[in-house]
Amino acid sequence: MNAPTSANPAGCDVELPVAGIIPFSATDWPGKLTCTIFTQGCMWTCTYCHNPTLQPITPGEHAFTAVVDLLGQRRGLIDALVISGGEPTLHHGLGNAIAATHRIGFPVGLHTCGYAPGRLDVLLEREETRPDWVGLDIKALPSDMPAVTGCSPRAATGSWQSLRLLADARDRLGLDLQVRTTIWPDSILEHHLDDVRAAVAGYGCELVVQYARGVNERGEYYANLF
Ligand code: SF4
Repeated sequence: MNAPTSANPAGCDVELPVAGIIPFSATDWPGKLTCTIFTQGCMWTCTYCHNPTLQPITPGEHAFTAVVDLLGQRRGLIDALVISGGEPTLHHGLGNAIAATHRIGFPVGLHTCGYAPGRLDVLLEREETRPDWVGLDIKALPSDMPAVTGCSPRAATGSWQSLRLLADARDRLGLDLQVRTTIWPDSILEHHLDDVRAAVAGYGCELVVQYARGVNERGEYYANLF
């Protein structure tokens, strides 16, 4: 990691493929005004995904230094940076991105589907790489995950391992955690919502339910069908 200098206050030498930047958002971290970035790449193919162009693992449009520059310009106007995706935990540079953001004085929120519990565990170990708030998307019960996300049965338990790790970090380290899921009418999710809610409650979390917009009866996002 580069040492911080006056020209490069974050000491920023971060490899994180950034596909998009929203300079101002009031909806990505409850109660916070954020700059929100979207990383490129996701291993899953959720039927209702509104960002399928973020799924391919390709280089991003922006370097993370552009994000650091923007945060510097918006000091006093926003509270924090949110890193969303795609799936941010795919990228080994995520820890450096969080640390660089902390160095310039901004807290970090992370959106994740919990795809990579091992990588989350490493992020949580050190204060500088630990996100301050996490919005964890629990897509389904493990048995229903392949149908909803296209993941393998083996990968299906990853989100729930991530929930266990994050709930532990909340209890031990004060991590702020929100757990949410997305349903649509007559979906597997809707039918098993009580079971998902009860399983999430077992980790001391309340499940926030979001409704998929613009999807057909199979939960497929209309815009992806044409
Ligand atoms: S995890 Fe998120 S980005 Fe990946 S396919 Fe599902 S909805 Fe899209």
